[in-house]
Amino acid sequence: MRQHSSIRRVKAFNLILALFLLPGMVFPSLKAPDEPGPRDSPPRQQPLQPVVARVEFSNPVELAALTQWLDVWEVNHEQGYLIALLSPVQYQELQQSGYAITVDAGKTELLFRPNQNLPDQTSGIPGFPCYRTVEETYADLASLAANHANIARWVKIGSSWDQVTPGGPPGYDLDTLVLTNTHIPGPKPIFFLMAAIHAREYVTAEIATRFAEYLANQYNHDPDVTWLLDHSEIHILAITNPDGRKFAETGLYWRKNTDSDDGCSDPGTWGTDLNRNSSFKWGGAGASANPCDETYRGPEAASEPETQALQTYVASIFPDQRGPNENDPAPDTAMGTFITLHSYGDLVLWPWGWSSALAPNSTQLQTLGRKLAYFNQHTPEQAVGLYPTTGSSDDWAYGELGVAAYTFEIGNTFFQDCTSFENTIYPSNREALLYAFKAARRPYQDPAGPDSLQLALSSATVAAGTPVTLSAVADDTRYRAGSGEPVQAIAAVRYSIDQPSWETGAVLEPMQATDGAFDTPIEAAQARLETFFLPPGKHTLFVESQDASGAWGVPSAIFLTLLNPDTSATIEGLVRSASDNAPLSAQVFAGQFSTISDPENGYYSMQILSGTYQVSAAASGYLTVTSSTLTATEKQTVHQDIYLAPYCEIFSSDFESGSAGWSADSPWAITSEAAHSPSHAWSDSPNGNYSDNIDVSLTSPPLDLSTYEDVQLRFWQQYSLEEPPIYDFAYLETSTDGGSHWEMAAAYSGSSAGWVQQRIDLPALTHAGNARLRFRLKSDAGINADGWYLDDVLLEGTGSSCFEAIPPAADFTTDSPVQMGQALHFYDQTTGTPPFDYAWDFGDGIGRAWDSSPQYTYTHTGTFTVTLSITNTLGSSSSQHPVVIEPQQPISITQISVDQVYPASPYAGQSLFLRADLSPDNASKPYTYTLDYGDNTLPITLTSLYDPLTFSHVYTASGTYTLNLTAWNAFNTQPVSGTLGLQINEPPAPPPEIYLPFVYR
Ligand SMILES: [Zn+2]
Repeated sequence: MRQHSSIRRVKAFNLILALFLLPGMVFPSLKAPDEPGPRDSPPRQQPLQPVVARVEFSNPVELAALTQWLDVWEVNHEQGYLIALLSPVQYQELQQSGYAITVDAGKTELLFRPNQNLPDQTSGIPGFPCYRTVEETYADLASLAANHANIARWVKIGSSWDQVTPGGPPGYDLDTLVLTNTHIPGPKPIFFLMAAIHAREYVTAEIATRFAEYLANQYNHDPDVTWLLDHSEIHILAITNPDGRKFAETGLYWRKNTDSDDGCSDPGTWGTDLNRNSSFKWGGAGASANPCDETYRGPEAASEPETQALQTYVASIFPDQRGPNENDPAPDTAMGTFITLHSYGDLVLWPWGWSSALAPNSTQLQTLGRKLAYFNQHTPEQAVGLYPTTGSSDDWAYGELGVAAYTFEIGNTFFQDCTSFENTIYPSNREALLYAFKAARRPYQDPAGPDSLQLALSSATVAAGTPVTLSAVADDTRYRAGSGEPVQAIAAVRYSIDQPSWETGAVLEPMQATDGAFDTPIEAAQARLETFFLPPGKHTLFVESQDASGAWGVPSAIFLTLLNPDTSATIEGLVRSASDNAPLSAQVFAGQFSTISDPENGYYSMQILSGTYQVSAAASGYLTVTSSTLTATEKQTVHQDIYLAPYCEIFSSDFESGSAGWSADSPWAITSEAAHSPSHAWSDSPNGNYSDNIDVSLTSPPLDLSTYEDVQLRFWQQYSLEEPPIYDFAYLETSTDGGSHWEMAAAYSGSSAGWVQQRIDLPALTHAGNARLRFRLKSDAGINADGWYLDDVLLEGTGSSCFEAIPPAADFTTDSPVQMGQALHFYDQTTGTPPFDYAWDFGDGIGRAWDSSPQYTYTHTGTFTVTLSITNTLGSSSSQHPVVIEPQQPISITQISVDQVYPASPYAGQSLFLRADLSPDNASKPYTYTLDYGDNTLPITLTSLYDPLTFSHVYTASGTYTLNLTAWNAFNTQPVSGTLGLQINEPPAPPPEIYLPFVYR
């Protein structure tokens, strides 16, 4: 039993003050800037204060001996030195043992700098606003759990040392955030993520916390996050060592917990290293028995309450999947990933750390490690390769339970700056953690397989029944570059709908190689999906890829939303040129829906969800137009025509035959050094770099834009300017008063990637009667560069100068002839300048309409003369065409073909979807059919209007069946039959029982 003494304990704030005021400590900020300090003269004698120093070693035995008792921050194996934090005593001992020691003055100085808030900082660790404090982290994760009760639980798993020790600070709970959709029962694969077991490693707790928030916020939005939380679990212990972390937030380089009763009386160095305290191989290499050392292992295995809580909890969520002997491997089917986040060194480490022997699952651990390192660009290696350690949590998780366990050493310092954290460290590690979550089901198998990437659908939302094309890229090459992981050609890609491949009942359908054959390590694949058998709503498509070694990779997912075609709303209309009413093939968008209008008549029609929309249409050479907001209601059709104004050229030049009226400040000139087309371009500094402090322009002639709107400039440029943060700029400017005043329209700095085209909207130039443009290069004193090249300038606009309004010449097309009872569709084909007034007379004495593309259902058969009358501001015109309404034809059914739609390889007990196609397509309806499935169910007889006819059936036993469908209509002299042979397989074996203990579940 440990003895707890409250007398020796120090209140947290006293301790922190005491640590910063240790005798001999110097606050650099209090020194005069010119005063020589340790930076200038490394101490030759024993320092009075801790220092960060480089210690040279000559072989692995020496390294192992040093890491046993020193607080090692970095190891450079090639050059044979390590960087460590040395106490005065350690420094002296090393010196007496003959080690070469060089103090790192910069790092040492940081040891004694208390963290201070930035000028406007109100939260986070002082000086590091991107990292939340212990209290802020706990509060945010607890409220995340409260706000996402369907997927999140905030579970107390234990206590910190201060919390269980009388007297002193109150300490903290150890709390774990569990994320999974609780409505889908388990057992599920588990990813355990822990951070901040070492107090000073700032980035780690924040990465874990942000990852939790990312998952919670993306649930139901990101398809991969959604399936991961539906079918897997993540347990996140964001702060494993809260007592120590609280010290470190002040600016101390605190590593251990705050356990003060194990024999070290120095409040600056007591505490147990929780990552040397676990019960697996406790007390061996790389851990110290001296309670003042930073790698102090504790008085016994798992002596600390934090270690006990961690081990008890992790052992409760993972089954023990590995035998008791060192060389017993976990089976290939073992589940679970375990990652402990540390700083620093840009490493991905896997067991063993206690021994240079390979772990029994070493090859598999290495494969996943190389995969994880692909994302965060760390160096993947066995943990012992850094230096030997015993009692670490990842060796424990793998050693005791067989879980695939990793340490990430993140970043290049303990107190990582917020800029690199935000821009590279968090984003890249988030991707690595997402992969680790995906791999939790089969960590020893899936990482050898290819990733499935770039999932896309021809349309992400369609009316149920509309087929879609699913595409993906299979990639077997995504391992840390140069790591040596073997790569194979892609062998197969498959998808399943709403169930991942491993779930009972999942139907796996193949995807085809886009180039015809799977034979390289990166392959595009696609599949056409029928959707008529799926209920309306949101569906998840899972894609998995396999390589030639037989390994399937982790899945990726995409959402497909199906609308109910019986209740969805419709938007339809024409897309036409605003100059002459010419039909346009345009991309038409309404919210998440899109379609392309018919080039013959400009007609578009989309089934959409009820709601409010703005419809926009985009066609090359025309200004994109967006409609006002319109409301689409279930089962209703909304009509929206869109007229696109053509762009026309106002000015253009390729500057091949002179300046085209542009005036140039020296040294701007036309050069043949570089050009976009074909051989000449403007340059601000021909034949060299631009000079310091110049301000030179290339200015257009005056331009009369009084009749133009939506003015747009296109030009090609290539530029190389001084890089930020000291700027030289290239400006595009416009004037509306002939050049007296200028407004900036665009600015460029840095360098372009070769020639690039720019397209700049210049709304300020609408109706400008005396406009000018200029390109201006401005440099400061400093670095100079090659400068700016300009070519192929094109100024365009819309407006009355782009076309002359013309009177209408009415015309129209129709679907005629149609059978009685069928709606006849009319399409305006008038030439002339919109807008028009439309008046349709359908010629039967009844029907009239006043829109551009009406539909009409005649009540009699016969030939009718339809009249379209058109009026615009310049005149009127009318056009007449006959239309024919035929009697319903007595057409008999001549042929029936029956197809198996889904799945391709059905098994007993599974729904099988089928389709019957009748020929000819205009065979009279309704018709009657008899369907005999060929099993022992009774044939059914029904009447239908539909062709094709779709239906589903469940065969309850495996075997071979012949399905027979017989149909006839009123004009058939005898029924017509179609048959289909079916192979129904045995259902797959259920997945093996998974042992999971009852604790915490
Ligand atoms: Zn660490």
